[in-house]
Amino acid sequence: MRLENLPVRDELRGREPYGAPQLDVPVRLNTNENSYPLPEPVVVEVEKAVGEVLRGLNRYPDRDATALRADLAGYLGHGLSRENLWAANGSNEVQQQLFQAFGGQNRSAIGFTPSYSMYPLLALSTGTSWIDGARNPDFTVDVPVVVDQIRRHQPDLVFLCSPNNPTGTAIDLSVIAAVAEVAPGMVVVDEAYSEFARPGTPSALDLLDGHPRLVVTRTMSKAFAFAGVRVGYLAAHPAVVRALLLVRLPYHLSSLTQAAARAALRHADATLATVEAIKQQRDRIVRRLTELGLTVAPSDANFVLFGGLGDQRTSWQALLDRGVLVRDVGLPGWLRVTAGTPDETTAFLDAIAAVVQDRTGMEQGG
Ligand code: PMP
Repeated sequence: MRLENLPVRDELRGREPYGAPQLDVPVRLNTNENSYPLPEPVVVEVEKAVGEVLRGLNRYPDRDATALRADLAGYLGHGLSRENLWAANGSNEVQQQLFQAFGGQNRSAIGFTPSYSMYPLLALSTGTSWIDGARNPDFTVDVPVVVDQIRRHQPDLVFLCSPNNPTGTAIDLSVIAAVAEVAPGMVVVDEAYSEFARPGTPSALDLLDGHPRLVVTRTMSKAFAFAGVRVGYLAAHPAVVRALLLVRLPYHLSSLTQAAARAALRHADATLATVEAIKQQRDRIVRRLTELGLTVAPSDANFVLFGGLGDQRTSWQALLDRGVLVRDVGLPGWLRVTAGTPDETTAFLDAIAAVVQDRTGMEQGG
């Protein structure tokens, strides 16, 4: 029996599942994880917290993750409380729930391409029409560009990713405010990489007051080095949270996950200690790639998009041959690299310098 012979929904036929290669290579810089493991004191606290719930695992977890949501509100500040927060297994699940509650048949969602590739897939799996909106050629978005597209398409959901994956570009709050004014439906700002933004890059959390259809999604997968646990969350008006309760699966967030996340949040300072180090490596990558004559998109995230190496598939393979895995996001001429530890970054920069040199040699040799 082959997949093609099953009566799967028409729109799923011929589709590939989402996924970057999980290859066993020395330097993995392709999925924007935090390259640092959790600090040891945090590991001990998480172990203790998880240990404490083990004897209660015969019972379902707190269905509404009330304590975790209160802790997340405390972390975000901005006068938010538990009623403003919602959590699920990664911000992917949070975003899927947003599609389930506010998208669906005869509804549409727009994002501004290139952006996070899961949005169109979540649209597909929830029967929502996807509109591929456009950015400026330098990957920025400004008020005229987005407002015009939203006015034309009248989407039920707008996805703004800031800082944007895969380009690293943060969106100015004036743009988000303008979108919130003209959008007829929900406006979702995906701030998965917010903690890595350069100083002076404000969060859309500042705009929640007075914009009841605005939603900010966040994750513990990146800055918190918690990708393996799967915790994402959002902040919004309490009515938005109540809408998500209608579509979430009962007991979706396990007791283990809730306990682990609460322990990590109690030690947020230690958990977030790697953020500054990663930002330094990110800025180092930008500087060095520029020196090498490559085109580099300015980044407020823990990754850098770069071009100028011709066909990106060839340079992706050339880097892999040197033991460095980066991401081909399918953007002709561009590759994305995650900022890792200093050693990983050095390995990447050495490899890319060699690739540039080989290419120059080939061009000069005819
Ligand atoms: N949003 C963006 C922009 C991302 O890059 C990612 C992860 N690659 C996610 C959301 C989802 O992350 P998670 O489900 O781990 O929270």
